[in-house]
Amino acid sequence: MGRAFVYVILGGGVAAGYAALEFSKRGILPGELCIISEESVAPYERPALSKGFLLPEEPSRLPAFHTCVGTKEEKLRHKWYKEHGIELVLGTRVKSADVRRNTLTTTTGETISYRFLIIATGARALKLEECGIRDSDAENVCYLRNLADAMRLVDTMQNSAGGNAVVIGGGYIGMECAAALVTNRIKVTMVFPEPHCMAHLFTPKIADFYENYYASKGITFVKGTVLSSFEIGADDLVKAVILKDGARIQTDMVVVGIGIRANTTLFDNQLIIEKGGIKVNGYMQTSHKSVYAVGDVASFPIQLFGGDIRRLEHVDSARKTARHAVASIMAPEKRRDLDYIPFFYSRVFTLSWQFYGENRGQVVHYGNFVSGRFGAYWVKKRRIVGAFLEGGTSEEYEAISTVIRFRSPIEDMAQLEMLGVEFALQIQMNQASQLSSHIVSQPMYAWHAFAGLAAATSIAAFAYWYGRRRRRW
Ligand SMILES: Cc1cc2nc3c(=O)[nH]c(=O)nc-3n(C[C@H](O)[C@H](O)[C@H](O)COP(=O)(O)OP(=O)(O)OC[C@H]3O[C@@H](n4cnc5c(N)ncnc54)[C@H](O)[C@@H]3O)c2cc1C
Repeated sequence: MGRAFVYVILGGGVAAGYAALEFSKRGILPGELCIISEESVAPYERPALSKGFLLPEEPSRLPAFHTCVGTKEEKLRHKWYKEHGIELVLGTRVKSADVRRNTLTTTTGETISYRFLIIATGARALKLEECGIRDSDAENVCYLRNLADAMRLVDTMQNSAGGNAVVIGGGYIGMECAAALVTNRIKVTMVFPEPHCMAHLFTPKIADFYENYYASKGITFVKGTVLSSFEIGADDLVKAVILKDGARIQTDMVVVGIGIRANTTLFDNQLIIEKGGIKVNGYMQTSHKSVYAVGDVASFPIQLFGGDIRRLEHVDSARKTARHAVASIMAPEKRRDLDYIPFFYSRVFTLSWQFYGENRGQVVHYGNFVSGRFGAYWVKKRRIVGAFLEGGTSEEYEAISTVIRFRSPIEDMAQLEMLGVEFALQIQMNQASQLSSHIVSQPMYAWHAFAGLAAATSIAAFAYWYGRRRRRW
């Protein structure tokens, strides 16, 4: 038994949805594209699962957050795929792949063949068992990666109303779930081994702001230690967590967010794997020419970092790599290397931050860490390579992304600290005015050089003027 398609997307998450939209925009014929997904619903915006989905009142539910609403594009419900002749093979796991024969085999025994394959299998949550902890399959221990996990988390929160929760892990998922638990009137203790939350991204100063804010919402932090075991009751539910330092924390539920692993297994001995993901070139093409990989599962070269191969775990990267792979497949004569600026964000309580670039080099904090309008730049070899902003406007977020795109040069760190987000806004303003007066007939490389020079000159002048005013942002 088997079917054949020109294009197959393996995985039905964020990247799959954006790839499908791009295929349809570029023009495919009915019956040419198939999406195979283990999940039973059409692709959706996964970040919603730790945000709107967990709200106690008027929670977000499908179909409200199918892709591609995250970028204000069409919402692709099941019927959209049908209307566009795209085969959705849902609730179906692919159990093996043969890249030499261009085939996939599903757990139902079907063989699906393709001319081009896009691997969009994303990642899975790392389980406590993999860290040697037993009983983590108890019903009140929750993970959060897919819709089924989110529904289970909602049920467990409802059963624990007015009680206590322990969140294991101080990263993205831990922070967002802790906020959701509190909003659902559950008292939270967060446990993680690092000295502060979001240790991969935040500086101690930035983390301090969020930890204080969380503490003001009643969240307790237990840092510098890890879970060692669970205490299980007669009902087979976790009653308490025991930490490595011997402490015991009584609880009604546990949420685990200890990281993810890319779903590469099907291709481990067939394609090149690097940095935990399937290695691709700037077209998102793997070591096999008819196979592409996108989203969380792909390790790709980032031009901004000198072509360094990175695997990112963020929704913006999933959307853009997916579109880029489709463009490379469908318009090979025009294909070019992806020029991607790493970007991620989070929203918790009434807080909201964005980050662009990389958090390496010397840090310059700015703004007001009491009022919650602050940020940071990371400077390497006298250029800004990373920018973080909490509580910004859309114009300010756009501005910090421009600073990263141009790796804006910087001579005076004190000036940068003083100017804060104004520095980025000024760069942005210069770009916009130069763009409107000069870009039309300029070749891109000349424009970049010109804009960089003009921006640097006017920023220096602006910084001098601004510095003399001695006003703090
Ligand atoms: C709760 C949560 C909140 C998040 N919040 C943010 C955020 O605020 N900001 C941000 O930047 N990023 C966030 N992310 C990360 C973002 O969602 C991911 O980067 C993005 O979903 C990656 O898209 P993807 O398509 O590569 O993988 P996924 O969206 O994970 O999709 C992978 C798909 O492949 C399927 N699959 C895997 N293996 C098989 C197989 N063998 N057979 C069939 N199907 C298979 C899976 O079932 C799934 O449908 C969040 C992630 C989660 C889980």
